[in-house]
Amino acid sequence: MCLFCAAAGTRHGVCAACLADLVRLPAEVCPRCAQASPFAQICGRCLRQPPAFDVLHAALLYDYPLDGVIQAFKYGKRLDLAGSLAFLLAELAPPAIVQPDLVVAVPLADARRMERGFNQSLELARAFAGRINAPLNSTLCERIRNTPPQARLNQRQRRHNVSHAFRVKHRVDGLCVAIVDDVATSGATLSELALSLKKQGAKRVEAWVLARVFYSKT
Ligand SMILES: [Zn+2]
Ligand SMILES: [Zn+2]
Repeated sequence: MCLFCAAAGTRHGVCAACLADLVRLPAEVCPRCAQASPFAQICGRCLRQPPAFDVLHAALLYDYPLDGVIQAFKYGKRLDLAGSLAFLLAELAPPAIVQPDLVVAVPLADARRMERGFNQSLELARAFAGRINAPLNSTLCERIRNTPPQARLNQRQRRHNVSHAFRVKHRVDGLCVAIVDDVATSGATLSELALSLKKQGAKRVEAWVLARVFYSKT
């Protein structure tokens, strides 16, 4: 059944009509962070302060009707959506530049996971790892600081808010790591986790998100 229109008989939980209607990223995005950027040049922010991840792969824009489905996945305990959302991520995001040696999710703080009952990014990462035939490591990364939600913060505050938020428990020397999350806005959280992975020896970090929010310049 299609998760958007409830049409029957779909293979991956999304019918062809709904798949065609989903809002894609424009052709001209920054090759590093997938933010809108004229002529697909490296954007000003990535030039001024390059993120710690090597590239961000985004499947879709954060827009109707995907936004509602992501909300249901996250807050409505719709874990059954993980497989279809991972299909969208693997199918619509630009392909991996280097096949990852392992896949990780952006970890939630324990308090928030308790409250919600699960980490939606981990469920998405698990299904995505299966799709791209890469091993998931669900215990490598942990959040050591409970950070306030990023929604009301500007770019600088977001970076500060997540700094030193993560711990990568062991060395990952020479490995290419894929980080999976549902939504990226500033990319600050993904960059901070990528930084922690690189400090533990990761050679390359590619970030993967189902939906990209385009933010206004700050
Ligand atoms: Zn449909
Ligand atoms: Zn950029």
